[in-house]
Amino acid sequence: MDPEGQARYASTVTDLDPSRRPLQAMLPEELALAVEIDIADARRIISLGHRTGALPERSPATIRRSALDAVRARFAIPSLTIAERRESREDPFVKYAFQLADGAVVETVRIPLEKAGRYSVCVSSQVGCALACAFCATGKMGLARNLEAWEIIEQVRVVRAGIPAPGRVHGVLFQGMGEPMANLDRVIQAIRVLGEPCAQAIDMRNITVCTAGLPAGIRRLYREIPAVRLGVSLGAVVPGRRRALMPIDGAHPLEDVLAAAGEHARATRHSPMFAYTLLAGVNDADEDAAALADLARTFGEQHGATPRLSLIPYNAIGPGDVFARSARLDAFRAVLRARGVGTIVRYSGGSDVGAACGQLSRPGGGGKASALAADAGSKRAASAVTATKSALPGA
Ligand code: SF4
Repeated sequence: MDPEGQARYASTVTDLDPSRRPLQAMLPEELALAVEIDIADARRIISLGHRTGALPERSPATIRRSALDAVRARFAIPSLTIAERRESREDPFVKYAFQLADGAVVETVRIPLEKAGRYSVCVSSQVGCALACAFCATGKMGLARNLEAWEIIEQVRVVRAGIPAPGRVHGVLFQGMGEPMANLDRVIQAIRVLGEPCAQAIDMRNITVCTAGLPAGIRRLYREIPAVRLGVSLGAVVPGRRRALMPIDGAHPLEDVLAAAGEHARATRHSPMFAYTLLAGVNDADEDAAALADLARTFGEQHGATPRLSLIPYNAIGPGDVFARSARLDAFRAVLRARGVGTIVRYSGGSDVGAACGQLSRPGGGGKASALAADAGSKRAASAVTATKSALPGA
């Protein structure tokens, strides 16, 4: 392994138990180096671990006994406890709440794709989130901690294990709890393992990392894993309105984020996905649509990659919610269409189980902790929306 690879390995190994590291976060070359075994054995052991979630005491015929013993002495396959698994009554979405070893809970969503039996998994990358976007339930929690690479991978492995054959996980979306660019060492390691043929074998072109806008992370993403796609949450594009919805805009203005997204597009030849959550009376006016169309067209002209515009109908995030779903979706799209810009409307299912976009927080939705978090967050959201509205002409 090259020095860069060794440094990456060192930085992503969990410190939960130095003598028994989680096998899920290992690439075969890292495992072979760590326990000095043949790379072919390392691949077979990793494959076994990802398929079964266990390391057997007796060695299968295809794996050398000494290699398996060496791995068993240094590695384990910890899992996540399924605290809750809720199937939507409205559609085939499934929301999982996973309890971690320290008691924290993160949420994951199994998203059915158009082709029967194919799924995307929307994973969490942090417990909570520090970025405090006003329209997001997770943003109300604050940041508790980063997830380890194995905890991210395990969300996919457990969801996959619950899919009846011949169904499969087709793609992964980093759009659950947390800002993935703020935990990028572990997110990148998780993506390498998810794409590794002997581990989860997911085509990296079907993995999308969505950010609220951290330019340095976007640049690192295309330099280190150029096959992976980029999503950017816009919030609002009329000057002055975005910052009230997404405080991160104060540190990294949208123009800086778009410059980094343009570099990503040129380097990877992937068009970015721009997500825009429509909020009634906040960012859904014709003026907002016209500004969004101009932004998309300008981005395409400057970077040679037309962004895919994904409009997301707002989903309620609990008591004290200061936002409402916009009734102007069709009118908004019409303004964009008249300016030659196409959109897709994100079907954001599972809202009855809190699995829809922006709704991920803590399980139950009505528990004391959730209610407190929602209440504390609603104050921030209220001041954000007030600021947003005061930025609107004539407000
Ligand atoms: S939208 Fe994403 S970045 Fe913003 S608060 Fe929610 S989880 Fe964090």
